Amino acid sequence: EGEKLYLGMDFGTSGARYALINTEGKIRAEGKREYPLYMSEETVDWAKSWRTTLYSLLEDIPVSLRPSVASISIDGTSATTMIVDRETGEPLCRPFLYNQSCPEAVPTVKAVTPPNHNVCSGSSTLCKLVSWWHSAETPRTSAVLLHQADWLLWLLHGTIGISDYNNALKVGYDPEVESYPPWLLAQPYSSVLPLVLAPGTTIGYMKENIRTSYGFGKDCVICTGTTDSIAAFLAARADQPGKAVTSLGSTLAIKLLSTTRVEDARFGVYSHRLDDKWLVGGASNTGGAVLRKFFTDEQLQELSKRINSAEASPLDYYPLIDIGERFPTADPNMEPRLQPRPENDADYLHGMLESIARIEAKGYTLLKELGATPVDEVFTAGGGSRNEKWIAIRERILGLPVSVALQTEAAYGAALLAMKGVAQL
Ligand code: ADP
Repeated sequence: EGEKLYLGMDFGTSGARYALINTEGKIRAEGKREYPLYMSEETVDWAKSWRTTLYSLLEDIPVSLRPSVASISIDGTSATTMIVDRETGEPLCRPFLYNQSCPEAVPTVKAVTPPNHNVCSGSSTLCKLVSWWHSAETPRTSAVLLHQADWLLWLLHGTIGISDYNNALKVGYDPEVESYPPWLLAQPYSSVLPLVLAPGTTIGYMKENIRTSYGFGKDCVICTGTTDSIAAFLAARADQPGKAVTSLGSTLAIKLLSTTRVEDARFGVYSHRLDDKWLVGGASNTGGAVLRKFFTDEQLQELSKRINSAEASPLDYYPLIDIGERFPTADPNMEPRLQPRPENDADYLHGMLESIARIEAKGYTLLKELGATPVDEVFTAGGGSRNEKWIAIRERILGLPVSVALQTEAAYGAALLAMKGVAQL
């Protein structure tokens, strides 16, 4: 018996990854697979693609390490919804993908929920459920709703109908009181809702046929998962209130660990529960996509070298690709502001980086005003995270320590959840 290892798998939008870590958090093996695109009736059979990918990732894990895997957890894209048979686990309809919208269900959902509830968006899990319920030909009584991660975990443990409170937030589950709200339980379709546990809770042992065919150990347990963006936050190990992760990808998203729950529909701000804390998030439309409109990644690197990050830029922009902003300013008519453009491109970039940093700072200020724990340290993920000049600019504007997150892969965060599951045993 060697060291104990923990396996996390991330099922993202274009492919899946795995990370196998030890108790110290060191990566022992990792890998990725793109989804094979199986077609049926001229559309992709996503359930089959995900299932095949799950087994491919298990095969990719070095044979010698498999017996040491103590636990497994999986994250999936938020609001990716499956309706499956309670007996066989087979899908009763095509999966509803994370970004799929069911606008026809919104009025029905709005009629039963409190105002401004997060499930009122057409892409919420609840709108998907209602849409299926009203169109279903299959016997609805034998159905159960699962999220993508729940279903993939079910393939490994075999107990149908279990979810976690991160995935279940968009179906209307209330993680604060740990139950579905009364207005939801009063609906006929509440019979298909899954049992909800905390993320990283042990569900049971790996199914024997899978365990023996892949060579995993007898004690390997399967734990509840989470969503992909929460798993990516977990990866950064920002595990104290006041620690935050700013994601500088195509857009700018901030996530802050708070002792208080904060919600404000005007700004699209809401909180996910993480044990005894809350993960408060907000997403702006500014970000790297605007930089990419003007400069290649190579130009960004070269121009950044010429920026004096200690000096404040006099340029005040609001970099956007399209009209409209939600967070930290709720204004659907906001115009992009990228003028005046100085002759020197380094000066132009300096103005943009500094303006995006001010929007980031305003975001953290808004979360504090809405009642969240004040931010005291910022970790960074995404394509813009490795720009040292930008880090220095952000430290000056935020007045806080800013660093690159050591780990940013969601699969790594899922592996940490798996570790948490075993620690509780
Ligand atoms: P996505 O949200 O699409 O996953 P990524 O995390 O891959 O985005 O980040 C891509 C973004 O990072 C691009 O929009 C690009 O403008 C930005 N980026 C890349 N290199 C740099 C750099 N050196 N400085 C600032 N931004 C950068």
